[in-house]
Amino acid sequence: MEQQNKPGERRLETQLIRTRAHPTRHREQVTPIYMASGFTFDNAEQARAVYSGEQLGYVYTRWDNPNNDELITRLCALEGAEAGLPMASGMAAIFTVLAGLLNSGDHVLASRSLFGATHQVLTTILPRWGISHTYADTELTSTWADLFRPETRLCLVETPSNPGLTLIDLAWIAGLCQERGVLLVVDNTFATPILQRPLAFGADLVVHSTTKFLDGQGRTIGGALLGDRLLVNELTQFARQTGPTLSPFNSWLLSQALETLPLRMERHCANALALAEWLQGQPGVRSVCYPFLPSHPQHDLARRQMAAGGGIVAFEVAGGLPAGRRVLDGLKMCDIVANLGDARTTVTHPASTTHSALTDGERRAVGITPGLIRVSVGLEHIDDIKADLAQALINHG
Ligand code: PLP
Repeated sequence: MEQQNKPGERRLETQLIRTRAHPTRHREQVTPIYMASGFTFDNAEQARAVYSGEQLGYVYTRWDNPNNDELITRLCALEGAEAGLPMASGMAAIFTVLAGLLNSGDHVLASRSLFGATHQVLTTILPRWGISHTYADTELTSTWADLFRPETRLCLVETPSNPGLTLIDLAWIAGLCQERGVLLVVDNTFATPILQRPLAFGADLVVHSTTKFLDGQGRTIGGALLGDRLLVNELTQFARQTGPTLSPFNSWLLSQALETLPLRMERHCANALALAEWLQGQPGVRSVCYPFLPSHPQHDLARRQMAAGGGIVAFEVAGGLPAGRRVLDGLKMCDIVANLGDARTTVTHPASTTHSALTDGERRAVGITPGLIRVSVGLEHIDDIKADLAQALINHG
């Protein structure tokens, strides 16, 4: 990713490794874990001043914690954000943005291809509070302008989407939203800020499931929201009252994980492109979807908007649902896991797991066919990943 540094400013890779929220007390090389629910004050007056925000300091970990501070400083550097909040999960981040900013009567315009639980929040939870939504089809961009309503307050998009890998032109959607005074929120989980920075295209907020590539080793559930300072301040008040806070231990793990993110993404993307190219010629593989393959319908946009194609490849096997499941059953090395973004290659059958709550019709509308397999391409040697999939395709497809 092309970096534009101010004179004297360290490069992003260095900031991710060297940025600390505080100097360590005992000269520890690594920031310690601050496993404390509360923080002490010298006297009643200091307690009052810190509690009211007049004086800087920590009060209570549901509000803030040194580990959360370090993590968010690094995430802000990554996304080029003014401010942010670490959250207990990706869904906590998404729900906090929606519930914290929307009022009864508001309307959300959302891309149809969304993560399954985000879809459930829009369709089953927000309507209970009088918040409606409309889905816009990624392929039919000419229809989007007509889908905004006077009461549309927020537009929520995911690019690339999970698991169909459809893209949305971020500069285009940011322009539509700005003309109408609508907030643009982008779920940047799949791309990570190493490949794409939505705030630079004009988004107001970015949300992440840090559970995925940002952790990268399948250890934590976590999330983040990042962006405009005023919006983040508003959401900070909401989150402090409602409590979807990330634990200091998870913040500590995530903060260290970010030190290797640029390197890991380079390998994830190189392995994923090699696997996608190889899969195209394999017996039983009907189609392969990867943003940096020339056959991807939005290949030009992918090249314009993303620094590389990402770590996820989706492919369709002939023979539908039973064939898809047989391929998973034949794997000897790759793990069958509903998670992604791990150092280990993980394989998922979305129709029967992550997107099983959708109806058949809803799945088809976002390209999740019964034989679709999602591979989160890990950091193992590419030859071993190919060998495992090759034997699973030949023996079980
Ligand atoms: N957004 C996307 C694109 C996801 O893939 C996921 C999880 O798979 C989420 C959000 C939810 O994140 P979490 O599981 O950390 O709550």
